[in-house]
Parts: sequence; structure tokens; C-alpha cells
Amino acid sequence: MRRIVIIGAGPAGLSCALTLQKEKEKQHIVVLDRNTHPGGLARSVFFQGHWFDVGPHRFYTKNPAIDSLWKKTLGAGFHPVHRLTRVLYGGKLFSYPLDAWDVMKKLGPKDVILSVFSYLAAKLRLFRPPAETFTQWVTARFGYRLYSIFFKTYTEKVWGVSCDRISAKWAVQRIQNLSVVSLVLAAFNIRPPADPKSLVRSFYYPVRGSGQMYTRMAETFGKERVTFRYQSHVTGIHHKDRKIIRVDYIKHGKRVTETPAHVFSSMPITAFITALSPAPPKTVLAAARRLRYRDHITVNLLVRGASPFPDQWLYIHSPDFQMARVTNYNNFQPNASLRKTHALSVEYFVFKEDRLWHETDTYLQHFAYSELTSAGLLSDQKLVGSFVVREADAYPAYYLGYEKAFDVIKEYVSTFTNVTLIGRGGMYKYNNMDHAMESGIHAAENYQHRDAHDLWSINEDGKYLEEK
Ligand SMILES: Cc1cc2nc3c(=O)[nH]c(=O)nc-3n(C[C@H](O)[C@H](O)[C@H](O)COP(=O)(O)OP(=O)(O)OC[C@H]3O[C@@H](n4cnc5c(N)ncnc54)[C@H](O)[C@@H]3O)c2cc1C
Repeated sequence: MRRIVIIGAGPAGLSCALTLQKEKEKQHIVVLDRNTHPGGLARSVFFQGHWFDVGPHRFYTKNPAIDSLWKKTLGAGFHPVHRLTRVLYGGKLFSYPLDAWDVMKKLGPKDVILSVFSYLAAKLRLFRPPAETFTQWVTARFGYRLYSIFFKTYTEKVWGVSCDRISAKWAVQRIQNLSVVSLVLAAFNIRPPADPKSLVRSFYYPVRGSGQMYTRMAETFGKERVTFRYQSHVTGIHHKDRKIIRVDYIKHGKRVTETPAHVFSSMPITAFITALSPAPPKTVLAAARRLRYRDHITVNLLVRGASPFPDQWLYIHSPDFQMARVTNYNNFQPNASLRKTHALSVEYFVFKEDRLWHETDTYLQHFAYSELTSAGLLSDQKLVGSFVVREADAYPAYYLGYEKAFDVIKEYVSTFTNVTLIGRGGMYKYNNMDHAMESGIHAAENYQHRDAHDLWSINEDGKYLEEK
């Protein structure tokens, strides 16, 4: 019987397996994942009666097939949430999505005047070279002043480098049609000219955290067709004559092997390249070293007392704090605000070589708690429990010039006849859950029916699927 190996039981790997198993062909699908349960970055952790995601995961898509798959999978356990999120900057909370009236009221006259002048200066500039960097792209649309308040600090926290070193592609993917004009039109209740990506006002969310979607999905598989192997870390991918002939993984300290007819890989593309044996040419290895993922820490705190804030999450733009986002998972659920304990998570974006990544859990818990207190988000609430999740390679980084290194790898991998890269880390693409799932589904269809979906075009046209 033909064996198909899928590396990763995240949204991409699961959707790929789901599509492949519909076929009645003689094949067996083996899903390998280093974690203990499915969901990948979108998994959830249960702690003292509360569910925590690895950073909050809202469900939103304009892809009707994914939308109906989500709704079918969880039924009533999947409910709409009216979004309330704000930005903390200069000690004030600004509505986010941005609201022109709110911005003007809270910025104060000096900043408003400076913002208007810098916006006009940006718009009246006669000659402007095409925007290559995040700074150039956003400044051209909003002016420098608004850019520095609402985009610069947060983006630099997330990516760990100056916005001058971040590709404009990131802005296109995340901000797209949002502009001062669309904000002002929205303030007057006039619909913006196009649907801006950042303005999604509601989303869906499962009762037991985002991971519930993927644990439920994994439960639906027939054992005779699909085998899940957790705590199975892929370490070696052997090839000959442009074909993958063996996949090695470590399970409970022992090496196990699979001989696949085809491999679908959602593990980070850089780790995929270094696992290849024989090793790829030096140029390819050098290109893999140039691609970097940003790593992510969630410090999860359970506090007892009054609800710290009504938002699902707050973006922390103030440069005085290292935390980038704070979430209250209670506010994702209809009646959870009645609970006496509140499930908070504080997110930090780091590199593995940074000091914070290596700090003890106890240090991180104290640090997060003290940042929340200094920011005025906690007062007399009592800390009753906490845990830390460190997630390596969480964000594929679009640093200036990354495309060149990426293209070298993409071209090299495309010469293999039996491997398909899928998902967020696997394709080195800043994909959300729906895009990752689409890549898994399309990859499976290409394999089984020789369809010709272009996986690389998913989420490429800048039409980020946030608001209908
Ligand atoms: C903080 C944060 C917030 C997010 N918020 C949202 C949101 O609000 N909405 C949204 O739609 N998306 C959100 N996302 C994105 C979403 O998590 C991803 O798009 C999605 O999880 C990608 O799915 P995937 O299957 O491609 O990859 P992953 O989820 O990364 O899954 C890959 C799997 O491969 C496994 N793996 C990796 N290496 C190996 C190896 N060597 N051997 C075996 N297994 C391996 C991993 O354990 C993992 O389970 C967020 C992501 C983060 C980090």
C-alpha cells in the first residue's frame, strides 16, 4: 500500500489529510508531529479550567469552503464574537480598528496638527520612488506622524528590526486598503472605497479555544486510512534522483523511518532544507540561513478579581513596554465575564538568541505581571496561576531582500518530484489559518487529481480575507 507522509498536524497538514482520505485509493496517510496534540500554532492549552491559545486566534475567512468546513466541524460550539480591541499608546487606549474621531479626541491638538501636516506633506510630495520598505509604504499613505504612533513601534516589537528593514510586502498583506480617507469616511458613516483588511468587526471563535477546531477535525479521521504519530520529530529527509526516499523521525528517543510515495511538509522550510540528506548545494544552505523566523513567547496568567479590561485583546504600542499584545480569553466567550478568574496572555516577540527566550518561567511570569501593573491594566487582582509557552519559528519574517533567498530555496525544492510544501512555515508565507488550510487542500487536490492550483498564489493578491 502506498504511504503518504504529512509533516505537521497543524491546520495545513490536517486539511491536506482530510482531502486525501476522501479518495478510495489504496493509500495510507501518516501524519507526523513533534507536538503532543494537533493544531500547530492554532492549538490551545487547558489550564485550571480555562483554555488558552498560543496568542489569540480569531476565525475569519472569505473562502466559503473553509467557512463551511469550520462551521460543519464545530456546529454550535463555534460562535460569533463582536470584536473589541484597542491600542495602548502614551497611556491612552485608542479604538482599533482606528476611528478618526477617537484618534483626534485622544491624540490632543498638538499631535493632531502635526499629523495633519505630515499627512499633507506625504500626499503633496511630487516624486516618490516605489515603496520598498514598510516605512516608505505606510508613510506615503498616512504621513510620518501617524505612522510613528500607530504602526512603527508595534511593528518593530513584532519583527525585532527597524521598519526600514521590513519589506513593503508585509504592509500590503496586512494593511492593504486602509487609508486616512477610508478612516475619515468611516467616521462619517460613509463606507470606505474598498474593504480594508484591518477593519474586520467580528469573527468566529470556538468554545474551547482555537485548538478545539483541530482536535475535533483530527477525531473525524478513519484509523484505517490515517495514522497520527505525535511526539515524532522529523530530523532526516533522504533523497535520491530528485525523489524523497525516506523520512526519519525521533519518537521517545528512538529513530523511526517511513518510506513515502509522497511528502507534504508544513515544517519550517529552513528546517526542511537542513534535514535533507545528502545536503543541498551550498547556495541553497546559505539561502536557508538568510531566512529568519521570529520566535514567540506567551506568558499566560490566571488572575482573580475584577475583569482587567473588556477587550478581547489590546495592542501595546507604547515603547515603554516590551509586551506587544495582551489578551483576555474570557472576553471571547458569551458568559465568561461572569467568571471570577480571568485568563490573560501576554505576548513577547523575540529571537531565540535573545535574553528573554532563555529566562526562567518564574522570571517571565513576574516580568509580565509587572508590565501589566505598570501599564495600569492590573491593580488589585490576585495572580492564582500561570504557565509559559515558547513557540519557535512562529512568524516567517519579510525582511528586506528575503525574496531572493526564498526564491533560491523554492526553485531547488521544486526540482523534487514527490514533495509539496504547504502551510505557513512550510511555504515561508505570512498565512492565517484559512490560507494554511487552503494550501493543504489544494496540494492534496493537485496530487490526487492532477489539478493545477498554484499554491504560491494563495494570499498573494493582497486580498486578505477579513471583511465581507
Ligand atoms: C501569535 C499568533 C496569532 C495568530 N493569530 C491568528 C488569527 O487570529 N487568525 C488566523 O487565522 N491565524 C492566526 N495565526 C496564524 C495561524 O496560527 C497559522 O496560520 C496556522 O497555524 C498555520 O498552520 P500550518 O499548519 O501551516 O502551520 P503550524 O500551525 O505551524 O503547524 C505546523 C506543525 O508542524 C509541526 N512540526 C514542525 N516541525 C516539525 C518537525 N521537524 N517534525 C514534526 N513536526 C514538526 C509543528 O509541531 C506544528 O504542529 C496566528 C499565529 C500566531 C503565532
